[in-house]
Amino acid sequence: MDKSIINEVINRIDNYDAEKLVSQLVRIPSENPGGNEEDIAEFVNEKMEKIGLNVKKILSKPGRPNVVGQYYNRENKPVLMLNGHLDTVPIGNRDLWSIDPIGGIVKEGKVYGRGSADMKGGLASMILAAKALKELDISLAGNLILAMVVDEEITGMGTRDLLNKGIRADAAIVCEGTNLKVHNSHKGILNFEVTVLGKSAHASIPHQGVNAIYRMSKICMLLEKYQKDFEKKYRGQDHPTISVGTIQGGIKANVVPNSCIITIDRRVLPGEDVDKIKEDINFIISEVNKEEPDFKVTVRETLYAEPSIISENERIMTLIRNAIEEFNLKFKLTSYPATCDMRYLLNHANISTAIFGPGKLELAHIEDEYVEIEQVVNAAKIYSHVAISMLK
Ligand SMILES: [Zn+2]
Repeated sequence: MDKSIINEVINRIDNYDAEKLVSQLVRIPSENPGGNEEDIAEFVNEKMEKIGLNVKKILSKPGRPNVVGQYYNRENKPVLMLNGHLDTVPIGNRDLWSIDPIGGIVKEGKVYGRGSADMKGGLASMILAAKALKELDISLAGNLILAMVVDEEITGMGTRDLLNKGIRADAAIVCEGTNLKVHNSHKGILNFEVTVLGKSAHASIPHQGVNAIYRMSKICMLLEKYQKDFEKKYRGQDHPTISVGTIQGGIKANVVPNSCIITIDRRVLPGEDVDKIKEDINFIISEVNKEEPDFKVTVRETLYAEPSIISENERIMTLIRNAIEEFNLKFKLTSYPATCDMRYLLNHANISTAIFGPGKLELAHIEDEYVEIEQVVNAAKIYSHVAISMLK
């Protein structure tokens, strides 16, 4: 592809448009739980139609529209999909925000608000990339699809439904906030619920009961050690993690508690053996069992979302790498620490997928979330560069 064409396209993508678009997107709340994506879906639908894409809404459920914008309204291979989610996590306690979470406020080159980093900045980059290509009427030997989906933050049904309804691509970029780092993999999640039983007694005669909280605390201490062992073993490399997220037990201070329940979140690296992880958990429990006669415990798996990985030599990775290097940005390849829709695209539909987008994961899901406009612009430039190089 002629370099001057690429330059013309990327010169079309400017900070003013990016700032305005992200700010507009933040001003349309799409909190989930709540499943409240209809307004933002309508907005991106209109926006994509206006720039000349062929747009359709594909419902996951009544009131839960995914929006798909296609560069061409005909079969044209190969296909590049840019994928992003419309929903955000809830705003939470507004008093903890120092800035209006749905104000779309712009300050010092950043747009603030819920969803700015996760991932309305990414949605804006997707739109800006397609807009620049359309404005210059760039002819593509293939198709570019913008897939904007519902419910990523909870079930992932949006992307799954699009795949079930036959939407396909040869390569995809999940435009989640990666701080412009490139990820060829992401971790999986395995959750457990552990219940330990004891025996109630009056708190003034505790020796007549069995305190379930004490028993559980032994398990918790061993789980903490399990995490520390990962940190020691991997020394700053991407590593598996384990964390106890909740604990419930007892009814009153003056009653020896007869049950205690914890929930455990285990992040899984691509290639890790899930059966071995379950064995590790059972081993920890058996260690406590050794010192506790009549130990009653149950372990229940409550969630599994698989990790995914592609080779760093796959074409989509090379295309992103070339684009990044051309803009003199640093190419840094790591594993995305959270899960995302890559797992459906790759594991269910065999679409070669990378994760790359504007905004920092550390800012997602917290108060005073923001995205840097410059990152939104750079991501849009890189998406358009990849589209041109892949579909030239
Ligand atoms: Zn996200």
